[in-house]
Amino acid sequence: MIPAAFEYTRASSLQDALGILASDEGAKVIAGGQSLLPLMKLRLAQPARLVDIGRLAELRGVRRLDDGRLSVGALTTYAELADSPAVRYGVVADALPGIGDVQVRNRGTVGGAVAHADPASDLPAALLALDAEVVVQSAAGSRTVPVDGFFQGAFTTALARDEILAAVILPAPRADAGSAYASLEQRASGYPIAGVAAVVVLGAGGLIEWAGVGVTGVSDHPYRAREVEAALVGTTGSPEAVAAAAALVVGDREVNADIHAGREYRAAMAVVHARRAIGAALARVR
Ligand SMILES: Cc1cc2nc3c(=O)[nH]c(=O)nc-3n(C[C@H](O)[C@H](O)[C@H](O)COP(=O)(O)OP(=O)(O)OC[C@H]3O[C@@H](n4cnc5c(N)ncnc54)[C@H](O)[C@@H]3O)c2cc1C
Repeated sequence: MIPAAFEYTRASSLQDALGILASDEGAKVIAGGQSLLPLMKLRLAQPARLVDIGRLAELRGVRRLDDGRLSVGALTTYAELADSPAVRYGVVADALPGIGDVQVRNRGTVGGAVAHADPASDLPAALLALDAEVVVQSAAGSRTVPVDGFFQGAFTTALARDEILAAVILPAPRADAGSAYASLEQRASGYPIAGVAAVVVLGAGGLIEWAGVGVTGVSDHPYRAREVEAALVGTTGSPEAVAAAAALVVGDREVNADIHAGREYRAAMAVVHARRAIGAALARVR
């Protein structure tokens, strides 16, 4: 439970942190430390240098952009997110209370959750369903990429070693959209055994015009269930249509199995929670 020796640098600015990452291959960012420190204590991670970005005010907070989108700074904690306009999205408001415990929600950051890419992390599912984007910075400049495609495998993302996730961009809220998150939680940690986030946009005649469905806990990385989305679009969102679409949530993906749930049970729970999330999202917009 004692980490290997490491150097520690507290970054004075984002540029300072990016400069250290660019020049030191052994450097790793630490934000709230909720995932990285346990890994270091177990010696599953042994960074030579920690670059502490935790006090960089420029990466903290939620602000509304001119076009109505919300920019969530990477250092925004879950607790701060819960006290921000981001809870206007039902899918975010639903997901937050079940994440960890009060200490984790006070220390854990949005950027840390996304960059860490735990296969069972809650927030990534919500971000996938919302079709959010992430702003990524390196010493060479900045790029904005869709969250869809960002998660590439267990604890693996599209972030390069010398990049820092600066912000998550949420689309502008709209009156014709409803969203919700439903999950079966593992009791001790709060991590989902299967979690599904759903966003539906209703069009003319009450038909579903657009759907976003994000899934976590089920596969080696959070994913967007495009099969479910396609099956929902053009329907009225009747219980039969929702059930038929939800049944596609796993598809031919390899399903995780661990001490908490076998493959068959986890897959079944994904279908149940897909149905619940889509149903709740529809109820919020009708
Ligand atoms: C007891 C416990 C229960 C938990 N339960 C849940 C749960 O129910 N649901 C859930 O989703 N999560 C859960 N978590 C995980 C928690 O959500 C994450 O640990 C937390 O959000 C990570 O953020 P952090 O700032 O602490 O990241 P850190 O631990 O500081 O960093 C995590 C990783 O991300 C990298 N990183 C951090 N910030 C950035 C950045 N801005 N740019 C680039 N890389 C970065 C670090 O280098 C490191 O590799 C739990 C954690 C604990 C300890």
